[in-house]
Amino acid sequence: MLQQLTDRVFFLPCDPATDRPCLGYLRGDRFSVMIDAGNSPAHAALLLEELRGAGLPRPRFVALTHWHWDHTFGLPGLDAAAAACSRTGRMLERMLGWKWDDASMAERLRAGEDILFCDEMIRREYPDRGKIALRPADLLYEDRLDLLPGGCSCRLLRVGGPHSDDCVTALIPEEGVLFLGDAYCEDMHHGEPHYPRAATERLISSLRALDFTVAVGGHCPPLSRADLFGYLEGVEKR
Ligand SMILES: [Zn+2]
Repeated sequence: MLQQLTDRVFFLPCDPATDRPCLGYLRGDRFSVMIDAGNSPAHAALLLEELRGAGLPRPRFVALTHWHWDHTFGLPGLDAAAAACSRTGRMLERMLGWKWDDASMAERLRAGEDILFCDEMIRREYPDRGKIALRPADLLYEDRLDLLPGGCSCRLLRVGGPHSDDCVTALIPEEGVLFLGDAYCEDMHHGEPHYPRAATERLISSLRALDFTVAVGGHCPPLSRADLFGYLEGVEKR
């Protein structure tokens, strides 16, 4: 169910059953922006249906927060132009060549290209993995892109951090909202999930420089600024 966070910002909450992340939406005067594409066209369609029901326009752009499947596999279900930082774009190109039969998935697990949690969730989201189709990005930027939808702005900023080097946050300063994607999450791809200290410190200082009061993470309910930094400073000490 679509939730309204501020005058212009909405989001579809995450759904852990198949690891569907939160999807963001910004209503501009001239066009609208979606944050993250979802983990399948069915997931993306859920947001589009909610928007239709609320009388809100379809997004013209979709901003990808990082390459992970649950944030990007919804792209083929969208006609919005996909904006990605160049690192995310490179990973999308690479995944276009991936196959989804059991042997190929097992080989990626063995090679450390994917992790068991994602493998299991992909199988749940796609009972028929023959239906998995990916789409590359439409526009690439290096570390920062400003979208100007009218009446507000949406600054896409690569912050990297422990979770993935390509992590981007979407700041809507006029609304005091920061979409975090998974930037606040741990490193899942190198051994046991953990927060490497240096990367976490750099992330905290990058986020501190941003002007927001509410942060929307990919897999949790919205957090106040104080709660976000309380959490990140807590994990940093572990
Ligand atoms: Zn992720």
